[in-house]
Amino acid sequence: MSEKFEALKAREERLLCRTYGRYPLSVVEAQGARLTDIDGREYIDLLGGIAVANLGHCNEELAQLIERQARKLIHVSNLFYQEEQLNMAEALLATLHLDKVFFCNSGAEANEAAIKLARRYTQKVKGREAGDIITLEGAFHGRTLATVAATGQARFTDGFAPIPQGFVKVAWGDLDAMRAAISPRTAAVLVEVIQGEGGIRPMSPEYAQGIEALCREHDLVLICDEVQSGMGRTGKYWGFQHMGIKPDIVSAAKALANGLPLGAMMASEEVARGFVAGSHATTFGGGALLTAIGAKVLEIMKRDKIVERTAQVGGRFMDKLRALSERQPGKIREIRGHGLMIGVELAFPAKPVWEELLARGFVLNLTHETVLRLLPPLIINEADLDMFVIALEEILGAHQA
Ligand SMILES: *Cc1c(COP(=O)(O)O)cnc(C)c1O
Repeated sequence: MSEKFEALKAREERLLCRTYGRYPLSVVEAQGARLTDIDGREYIDLLGGIAVANLGHCNEELAQLIERQARKLIHVSNLFYQEEQLNMAEALLATLHLDKVFFCNSGAEANEAAIKLARRYTQKVKGREAGDIITLEGAFHGRTLATVAATGQARFTDGFAPIPQGFVKVAWGDLDAMRAAISPRTAAVLVEVIQGEGGIRPMSPEYAQGIEALCREHDLVLICDEVQSGMGRTGKYWGFQHMGIKPDIVSAAKALANGLPLGAMMASEEVARGFVAGSHATTFGGGALLTAIGAKVLEIMKRDKIVERTAQVGGRFMDKLRALSERQPGKIREIRGHGLMIGVELAFPAKPVWEELLARGFVLNLTHETVLRLLPPLIINEADLDMFVIALEEILGAHQA
């Protein structure tokens, strides 16, 4: 590590709360799918700011819009009508079957809004005294107290008691367990159809449809957390569109404004009746600057056929990874995902492989000790993905299992 980098590290140690286990890398500039570090070294970005920079880092069209909009209207609060919100809402709702949007600032807040709406709809519109939400093992729904309760993993709740009640966790893939967990107190089921932090685990269409059928049978609100799997990441606008289901509420965030903090909760006309003026609110959510960018992101996606491209490029990339896996038997346990949301599960602890990839200039994430998680900007060149496959093959080839 350079002296410059060490100095930065020491400064951070002094100044910031110790919440992050950082990568040994300080990024000072980013363009498209390339990052530049403090010592001027370039990296291929296979993380995209954790599924955020879908249209590439510092996208020129968005940069120009930010500059224009910053001189026109940034924030006046949700006490006012703002056309920017409506433009974005229209573009967003055109991507799925839902009718209404609530804008907020993050994924956790989008899930908070979803939980509040599902409960309020059940209690005030349906007149049923129920508020429990069923969630799945391995889930990740955010870091607020309610969303860590929904996430239900000890490492996220440790030391934060009392944790909010009303969340019931069931095993992944087990419809009988979900059926058994439903009680008169159950209001909703909250799932990621492709678990992200959980190691890129996609549901089978049959499983997703089974969950939907249980919700319909017991009159429960079905919420899909699409914070990571949404916005074209999987080769469709939303992950649930691979599964043939129609959730009542969808939460989104990460890629909505390509790097600026914007979240959205979308609901059906019926379920949206649960909110009335004053039920829920936020100061910043959906401000004019953010939603102007969000509308532009959706316009670019449509114009440049980003979703279709993601399906094609992601499909070819996954084929190449599968071919690699066959050439290197015993090294890769499984390749999972859709589009450019891909998990490569190794048959052994992946940290040394991840470190070697970083040393060779590839930035990606490691989850669950063994899973290389790939979430590159959707505009990444196929040549960059090919270079990754070659590097991974060399590293795996040298590894003694
Ligand atoms: C990242 C993520 C969240 C939390 O989003 P924040 O913006 O960090 O609050 C929630 N759900 C899923 C599936 C995520 O990937």
